[in-house]
Amino acid sequence: MKLPPLSFLKQNNAYLKIIMILFLSCTTDRTNLCSNHSFATPTAPQRLNSTNTLSSLETLGLDGYFSFDYMNNHHAAKDFGNMYHFLPSAVLHPKSVPDISATIRHIFDMGSASELTVAARGHGHSIQGQAQAHQGIVINMESLQGLEMQVHSGEMPYVDVSGGKLWINILHETLKNGLAPKSWTDYLHLTVGGTLSNAGISGQAFHHGPQINNVHQLEVVTGKGEVVTCSEKQNADLFYAVLGGLGQFGIITQARISLEPAPKMVKWIRVLYSEFSIFSHDQEHLISSENSFDYIEGFVIINRTGLLNNWRSSFSPKDPLQANQFNSDGRTLFCLEMVKYFNPDETKTMNQSVQNLLSQLSYIPSTLFQSEVSYLEFLDRVHVSEKKLQAKGLWEVPHPWLNLLIPKSRISEFAEEVFGNILTDTSNGPILIYPVNQSKWNNRTSLVTPDEDVFYLVAFLSSAMPSSTGRDGLEHILIQNKRILDFCAIAQLGMKQYLPQYNTREEWQAHFGSQWEIFVQRKSAYDPLAILAPGQRIFQKAIRIS
Ligand code: FAD
Repeated sequence: MKLPPLSFLKQNNAYLKIIMILFLSCTTDRTNLCSNHSFATPTAPQRLNSTNTLSSLETLGLDGYFSFDYMNNHHAAKDFGNMYHFLPSAVLHPKSVPDISATIRHIFDMGSASELTVAARGHGHSIQGQAQAHQGIVINMESLQGLEMQVHSGEMPYVDVSGGKLWINILHETLKNGLAPKSWTDYLHLTVGGTLSNAGISGQAFHHGPQINNVHQLEVVTGKGEVVTCSEKQNADLFYAVLGGLGQFGIITQARISLEPAPKMVKWIRVLYSEFSIFSHDQEHLISSENSFDYIEGFVIINRTGLLNNWRSSFSPKDPLQANQFNSDGRTLFCLEMVKYFNPDETKTMNQSVQNLLSQLSYIPSTLFQSEVSYLEFLDRVHVSEKKLQAKGLWEVPHPWLNLLIPKSRISEFAEEVFGNILTDTSNGPILIYPVNQSKWNNRTSLVTPDEDVFYLVAFLSSAMPSSTGRDGLEHILIQNKRILDFCAIAQLGMKQYLPQYNTREEWQAHFGSQWEIFVQRKSAYDPLAILAPGQRIFQKAIRIS
């Protein structure tokens, strides 16, 4: 399969033909689902003149504005994945929530005579065009100025934020009050609406659940243009639909995020294992322990000999002499990463607690590395790598990422095949692997997870070298991803994709399993014309041919 970057722009003609055919095949007024139809020869559909449709948007009298300029809108056809590029017809830069609701209501009122769809774009850090809208409208959520961030202290502190806010800005603002959100992603230059539409998973999720479980209330603009406040107690069905809902049911314009007292510092620890079974046993032990670490993750190191030297800049070995003598000999290693939060006056008790926890683990003794950094520095750690990669021109390369949730009972089998057979010589980026407790995750949201008490997040965060045809090229990495997915399917591991990427109705239906019917019902309740988030490729807007 050849899928070089920009190929989708180049393939736009072919894509357009497919879209035309889809319009023809969708002759009813109801929501259609993507599927593998076979198509008749297309003839041009009659529909509203799209220039008229677009110019009608200009009559809306918004606080913000529309951009129809092809050149200015180019950024809305890009994302972090850098593999899919669908150009919208217009980009809305909203200044208020009424801007968003008026736009969606206008499109809703046009009914199925208009082909326009709408994608909210957070920070555009999707992989496969999920925040794009081919010939539709992209809403640049970061320009939404509706709400000043408001931090509420007290026994159950929270912050009210706009859906387009970056998590890094929320962190800065809440820290002024000595507070912070409880659950994070590894990288904070993502928007609230973007991560809440997925889950928001990081090393705190074993304890607090993902970000979608740490939200008290949302304000949402539905696919009919209605502005609805929802929470566990009010419009609960919409609330849970939107959380993890892949942008299908509404646009998150505000969120009330749960906070906790923020520590000043963190103790950051890494230890190595050469046996996966010991590594995973220790991870599982830690996530089920009382008074455990505050953050637990892990990653796989494939074929790196100079590993210890790479770490010297930010971590100190507990035993420098022994650490110097440790050589990975090209073996695949597993690194357990743990963090304990503390304030400077708690250093002694924190160290005792860490010693106690470490004494329960079976890592290679010479490979204990530690560091103490500020809480802010720790949470914003990936941004440091981002700046380095940007300086080398290596941030805006294709990112064929693959994120999987694997049930605990099958993780050894998965590791044996993937790290023993599929990815033996090298990886093209970090591979994260860590378990979480299902009991801490609220199962009323739209997110689907494996059906076990404990499951692992395994994230293959590959970067492809743009013109390479070798092992670091896009084609090779996509083939490896496919081998991993094929293995999961053949071995029937009960895997669920996180940040799922599918193209057909059958695949989506299989992904959602028993939740599929509910997902479809919610779609027809909240976005009956399938206007929202077309880039997820779950539902196809039905177009009436008159
Ligand atoms: P976008 O890519 O802009 O949008 C994602 C989807 O959400 C689209 O379908 C879009 O239409 C929809 N959407 C956007 N805003 C809204 C809104 N306000 N209301 C409704 N729908 C909306 N994820 C994790 O869970 N944990 C991690 O540790 C993690 N680390 C990452 C690190 C990097 C470097 C990157 C690039 C991604 C990472 N992700 C992680 C994945 C990330 O959470 C998702 O890609 C997320 O969608 C990106 O947020 P965004 O604001 O860029 O959203």
